This record gives sequence, structure tokens and C-alpha cells, in this order.
Amino acid sequence: MALLHVKDLSKQYDKGKQVLSNINMEIFEGEFVSIIGPSGAGKSTFLRCINRMIDISDGELHFDGTDVMSLNKSNLRKHRTKIGMIFQHYNLVSRLTVIENVLHGRFGYKSTLQGVLGIFTEEEKVEAFRLLEKLGMGEHAYKRCDQLSGGQKQRVGIARALIQSPKLILCDEPIASLDPNSSKVIMDHLKSISKEMNITCIVNLHQVDVAKKYSDRVIGLNGGQVVFDGTSKELTSESIHEIYGSEAGDLIME
Ligand code: ADP
Repeated sequence: MALLHVKDLSKQYDKGKQVLSNINMEIFEGEFVSIIGPSGAGKSTFLRCINRMIDISDGELHFDGTDVMSLNKSNLRKHRTKIGMIFQHYNLVSRLTVIENVLHGRFGYKSTLQGVLGIFTEEEKVEAFRLLEKLGMGEHAYKRCDQLSGGQKQRVGIARALIQSPKLILCDEPIASLDPNSSKVIMDHLKSISKEMNITCIVNLHQVDVAKKYSDRVIGLNGGQVVFDGTSKELTSESIHEIYGSEAGDLIME
């Protein structure tokens, strides 16, 4: 069974224009999927529908056997614990330490009071350190996040997502603010997370070459519609043209 099953999904904001139209797809456990497409294609909107940060206007969205649109408030909270998020601008609390930011990933499992008081178990703290070590960030655990480079901040973001024990990680332009070396480090980590831990990754990307290199599967969006869904190998210069239209010229590296 697919981990994520999307059927005829459409989205419009405030009765405005259709931003996503009749999206259909199944995404499986452990798959590494990139979503590419021009700016405004609806990539970010699609990710926000999956963890129901926004509601879809039409269609169906099933995740891990659950109808996402039918969830009440407490079940929605549970749903979100299964989905980690990685953002372009990291979304860390800069005045807090690395380890505190990682532990924030456990908030979804806590009562409001535990969360406010920052009460975490010994196991959670040990796990936070283990994840930081795994990501090469162990020595920075007590630094304030505003002392880190962009690449280091993103590794904290990954640790914060992993400590949720997610089944799916959604990454919205995870390397758009990073230099090529840091981008490689981040993409290598995401790839090994999906392969070694069998966590599904859906990654919105601007860089077609990166999508091609790392993904099991690439989905191309244009004007809110899926115009390509295939393996990296199947992503030819013709398909890139179809996805990007007139912007494609700059993106094809052959
Ligand atoms: P992408 O991530 O591919 O750049 P987005 O999902 O951000 O695309 O945006 C798709 C379209 O939806 C754009 O036309 C954008 O202006 C519009 N849009 C995005 N967020 C909102 C919002 N909160 N309210 C109204 N329109 C929005």
C-alpha cells in the first residue's frame, strides 16, 4: 500500500485561481521523490496540503492509511508527528542551543505544559545527541544556533525532523540558501536517511541536476498540474522543456 495516496487533489486559495488541479499520485515507503517546476507552479502549496497546514479544496489525501481531511484536532496532531518538515530558512530558534532546537521536534508528543516547561526525558536527550553525532554536529550541541553556518543549521533542522520518528520528511527548498558544498552534504544526508532508515522524502527543488542525481523519482509541476512523473533516467531534456516551458533553456545541462 502507498504511504501517500493523492486522488484528484485541487487547491484554490480564497476562491481565487486554481493553484493545484487534479493531482493524482501514490508515493511509497522509502521513496526519494523530488518535485520540480517553475516558481509559482504549486510545489510549496502541495507540501503544505500533505501535512494539512492548509486544507485542500477538492479530492482526497490519504497518508499511512488515514484520510487526512477527516482528522479532528487531536488526530491531526498525531498525523503531524509522523511528518518531519525541513525548510529553506531552517526555522530554528536562533537564541536557543542546537540540542534545544533538536528537542523541539518532540513537541508534538508532549502536553502543552511539558512543552512550555521544556520537559524532555533522558531517552529523548540521548537520542538528540545520537542524531547530532550522526549528522556530524555532535561537537556543536551546546552552541547557540545563530553561531552556525547555513549548512550546519540545516543539519540541525534534519535532526529536529528525525527525532519525531517520522515516516515522511517534507523538504521545501532545503538547499536554496546553501553553497554547493553544503548542498551536497545536506542532499547526501537526506538520501541516506531515506535509504538506511526507510523514511520517505519528498523534496521541492529548484535545481534540476540535483533532482536528477538524487531522486528515485521526479515529479514535474507546471501551472498546478503534474506534467511529468517518472524516474531520473526518464527525465530527458524534452521533459524538462515540458515542465519549465520557456525557462527550460538555462536548466538543461548536456
Ligand atoms: P512554488 O512553490 O512552486 O513556487 P507556490 O505553491 O508557492 O508555488 O505558489 C503557487 C501559487 O499559489 C502562486 O500563484 C502563489 O502566488 C499562490 N499562493 C501561494 N500561497 C498563497 C496564499 N497563502 N494565498 C494566496 N495565494 C497563494
